[in-house]
Amino acid sequence: MKIICVGRNYVDHAKELNNQVPTEPVIFLKPETSLLLKHNPFFIPSFSNDVHHELELVVRIDRVGKSIEERFAPRYYSEVSVGIDFTARDVQTALKSKGLPWEKAKAFDGSAPVGTFLPIEDLGDVQGLNIHLEKNGTSVQSVNTSEMIFSVNHIISHVSQFMTLKMGDLIFTGTPAGVGPVTENDVLEAFLGGRSLLKVKVK
Ligand code: MG
Repeated sequence: MKIICVGRNYVDHAKELNNQVPTEPVIFLKPETSLLLKHNPFFIPSFSNDVHHELELVVRIDRVGKSIEERFAPRYYSEVSVGIDFTARDVQTALKSKGLPWEKAKAFDGSAPVGTFLPIEDLGDVQGLNIHLEKNGTSVQSVNTSEMIFSVNHIISHVSQFMTLKMGDLIFTGTPAGVGPVTENDVLEAFLGGRSLLKVKVK
């Protein structure tokens, strides 16, 4: 399986990192080894002094597809959750300044914790979901998925022009504003529609 991530998919977040609002989805990948097994702590990697949390809606692909038309995209997923796209911001900033790929900052072990998946039929419109992240009990990121620049269906259609989507692939759909650093002993808890789906201890 592969983890497909969208960058800069909310205007407020693009602005907080001084990035331009994109005219087509910004896509990067994380490997399977970036998944953080449930109930395992997240260990801050030794190569970074500025690891940020990025709360994101996560979509799981449950059907093989290539060159999917946007109107047919809903046939390719039926469950969503929330996840954290952990980012070594200091490493990413250095790579970006040289025009280099981001993988060292994004694809490291444990950088992709994902919560429990819920059926979309119980949640309603995938572009009308409230997601939020609490750090040590205080809300730090909160958004409605209606604010995405590129919808889930658009992302699926766009990505599938470039690579075949397979059952079990995950799509991290981008983070809203409010990203920030994590430190040892922080507890992150991610919610979808007020339901806690993911809890991660930082070590
Ligand atoms: Mg992200």
